[in-house]
Amino acid sequence: MPLQQVTILGATGSIGVSTLDVVQRHPERFSVFALSSHSRVEKLYHQILAFRPRYAVVATAEQAQQLQQQLKAAQCDTEVLSGPEGLVAVSSAAEVDQVMAAIVGAAGLLPTLAAAQAGKRVLLANKESLVSAGKLFMDAVRDHGAELLPIDSEHNAIFQCLPAQWQAQQQGKLFERGVSKILLTGSGGPFRETPIAELAGKTPAQAVAHPNWSMGQKISVDSATMMNKGLEFIEACRLFDARPDQIEVVIHPQSVIHSMVQYSDGSVLAQLGQPDMRTPIAHAMMFPERGQSGVEPLNFADIAKLDFLPPDFDRYPCLRLAIEACQQDQESCTLLNAANEISVERFLAGQIRFTDIAAVNGEVMAAGSDIRIANLEDVLAIDQQGRQLAAQFCAQRQREGV
Ligand code: NAD
Ligand code: MG
Repeated sequence: MPLQQVTILGATGSIGVSTLDVVQRHPERFSVFALSSHSRVEKLYHQILAFRPRYAVVATAEQAQQLQQQLKAAQCDTEVLSGPEGLVAVSSAAEVDQVMAAIVGAAGLLPTLAAAQAGKRVLLANKESLVSAGKLFMDAVRDHGAELLPIDSEHNAIFQCLPAQWQAQQQGKLFERGVSKILLTGSGGPFRETPIAELAGKTPAQAVAHPNWSMGQKISVDSATMMNKGLEFIEACRLFDARPDQIEVVIHPQSVIHSMVQYSDGSVLAQLGQPDMRTPIAHAMMFPERGQSGVEPLNFADIAKLDFLPPDFDRYPCLRLAIEACQQDQESCTLLNAANEISVERFLAGQIRFTDIAAVNGEVMAAGSDIRIANLEDVLAIDQQGRQLAAQFCAQRQREGV
């Protein structure tokens, strides 16, 4: 494999740090072209000194100027850009081979789309951008000959269990090639056994304490509500061109199996591993080859047993909302994703209760949108609508202490 130039969007986050860990294990394969961070500029500064990228991107021009001076003083010639234009520039630059899309939320949409439109290998961690843009995003991948490799552990597992021919082309009708079902596993999060009546009192600290995975705050809350599995349900429909009835959510508390594919002859293929994102990251970055990720092998004597159970929608109303949105239309998916970003943010800020997240998301879904998606502007407009509606419903709950 010739040396690959990699842009890492969201380098200071959980996925970004794991990506840099994989990169530094393979200096002969990967070179860092650009790193981005929104607010953690100090952390980015240290990453820049360690990896010496051509570019770095921060949120504002002011931050960029400050960081540029700091780097100059340290005799580092990395050029600092800022804002969405900076992110788009480092995602689509001609020198870049791979773009790790690891910004959290729909904020990642424009640069991730730019990477697809520039025909890059897109390493997709940022599920919200695919949920939000849906077919528009998949069309951009196809029309510009980009490669889309899933980083989300479930989708990466599913990818690994698909027919080799599909893996090579990353398109085609899977369900006409013997695949009968995609089994999307999820741990059930930290509140799987909490009495439902106690969920309203759960704090942000309790919600972000995931039993198996160490992740950013937003996805950790999404795991507690299982909105994460809902977003992944929509993500799987888009990535694998599946209908909602071809995907089944299975609760698997140990997170050893990362998802499965069932075939028409009765075979079920599963991908297993440690709950460590360096495995899917290394898989996608080196695909179709394999290489070291730094992840320990599984020890089956330690695992002892694997449990499976169906999801309880009374416990996880966000999962139900997402499946319904997926069954309805793209507009509902875009709206729900936007609403959820706001309700989770307000929960983390201590403004609404844990159970208000699902309530607000449901209220936004019920309000709906009158916009039909024909282009990217429509996606962004529905995203704005969802955010505004959710902010109103959150404020109302906070005021009334409902
Ligand atoms: P995180 O919060 O740890 O990191 C987010 C990164 O995005 C940071 O570098 C931050 O500076 C940047 N960022 C935040 N807001 C931004 C904005 N408005 N504009 C530009 N940059 C911004 O999150 P994470 O856990 O690394 O997750 C990143 C993405 O990967 C999410 O979409 C998440 O759903 C997905 N993902 C994460 C994991 C995991 O194990 N952490 C697993 C599967 C999927
Ligand atoms: Mg996942």
